[in-house]
Amino acid sequence: LPARAELARLLPEGTVVEPSAHHLHDATEAQGLAGHADAVALPETTAEVATVVAWCYEHDVAIVPRGGGTGYAGGAVPDGGVVLSLERMRAVRALDAPLWRAHVEAGLPTAQLQRVARENGLWFPPDPGAAEQSQLGGNIATNAGGPHAFKYGVTGRWVTGIEAVVPPGEAITAGGPVRKDAAGYDLRGLLVGSEGTLGVITAAWLRLIPAPEAALPVAALYADTGAGCAAVEAVMAAGVPAAALEFLDAGAIRVAGGAFPVPLPDNAQFMVVAEADGSLDEARRVRAELTEVLAPAALTLHAPETRADVAALWRWRDGVSLAVASAHGGKVSEDIAIPVEHLREAIEATLEIGARHDLAACSWGHAGDGNLHSTFMLDRSDPAALARADRAAGELFALALRTGGSISGEHGVGTVKRGALREALGDRGLALHRGIKHAFDPKGLMNPGKLVP
Ligand SMILES: Cc1cc2nc3c(=O)[nH]c(=O)nc-3n(C[C@H](O)[C@H](O)[C@H](O)COP(=O)(O)OP(=O)(O)OC[C@H]3O[C@@H](n4cnc5c(N)ncnc54)[C@H](O)[C@@H]3O)c2cc1C
Repeated sequence: LPARAELARLLPEGTVVEPSAHHLHDATEAQGLAGHADAVALPETTAEVATVVAWCYEHDVAIVPRGGGTGYAGGAVPDGGVVLSLERMRAVRALDAPLWRAHVEAGLPTAQLQRVARENGLWFPPDPGAAEQSQLGGNIATNAGGPHAFKYGVTGRWVTGIEAVVPPGEAITAGGPVRKDAAGYDLRGLLVGSEGTLGVITAAWLRLIPAPEAALPVAALYADTGAGCAAVEAVMAAGVPAAALEFLDAGAIRVAGGAFPVPLPDNAQFMVVAEADGSLDEARRVRAELTEVLAPAALTLHAPETRADVAALWRWRDGVSLAVASAHGGKVSEDIAIPVEHLREAIEATLEIGARHDLAACSWGHAGDGNLHSTFMLDRSDPAALARADRAAGELFALALRTGGSISGEHGVGTVKRGALREALGDRGLALHRGIKHAFDPKGLMNPGKLVP
């Protein structure tokens, strides 16, 4: 193919390869999505990224930036063109431990950054679920969250600077190692959450913080959704500074509860997982406060003490998404965000909408942030079920917007939520999005068809 042959001539041997299945899908595979591409480029340097973008831009070829392919919005699924995968750009360019700062390449897996930070007594709090596979560039491009976003905020809050290659093939930096920057429009902020539609993120300067000495979670089980949601609100109303405040509804407990580190009561219909962190004394004190608020209406509590038991609880939490996906062989999983006082309404509406569309449904997610993974479980090879799930998702989006929320709390828009963006942004908001897209990418070749409809 011309793109492959031409790019191969411009780049070191082995940099441009034939597309394999691995590079043609992301986590929306669970709903049967896969793409096609003319070539896959695996650059090792920012200069090589610029070469790819420049050639594609000159020859009107689409560029699809790709991180770890764990996205849930179809953002990395190509519809032709060149997949530009950052997987070989995984260097830690600098880790300035005394300055609480890292400068890393975009392809660095999230978990590797977390490990390097820990080895230096520091911590990078954003913790999206698939940390071994997802990359910093992908996290920035989707502004990923995770359980600890409740206290520490989403990825963008930890990014002080971005190096990116933008059309027609030029490397820029927006921000840098500085902790504050009020000079001009926030180009860094525009690249955060841009889903590959404005440029290719090649590196980032990240803020780190000293690692808390201890993190002590507590899981509380309730007999119904009302009691569980009331407990979530009670934690906030009591002013307890929880680091994470998660939930699972009855359906999620049904499919994932069997693997919970300890046996769960048969009548458990709702779970809250909260975490206290800080110095050991502080974590113990905050967990005691959490327990005081969560316990009165709870059936049981599980409060692991040792590092191994704490890790086991979070490992289990990380596996919830896959457990739900395997229950029926596939799923359509949304990530609406609603004001937290509407949590119960959204959890119940997920089941009601699912039932009306003849789909098994459940939800779990980041309760404190009002961010639900409302999910319809289905057989991914059943087109009729997928079509019903699409209509059901539309009703979820309407609910989110009606309550003052968002169609996406953390996964982004990609292709799967593109159709709902006009309603979410309004006409003027959408026009501004189009203007920004045009300013960066006048030919519309950066991840075309994603985010901006
Ligand atoms: C089991 C599981 C659990 C998850 N849990 C969470 C969670 O708790 N919170 C959360 O927010 N997400 C979660 N996710 C979704 C996913 O992990 C995050 O969105 C993740 O940050 C995506 O990173 P990635 O490197 O895999 O990106 P990809 O899927 O490869 O790409 C995502 C988007 O970013 C763009 N992109 C990727 N890299 C770049 C780059 N270098 N420059 C420009 N654009 C780029 C792509 O074009 C695409 O539009 C989960 C996913 C799985 C499978």
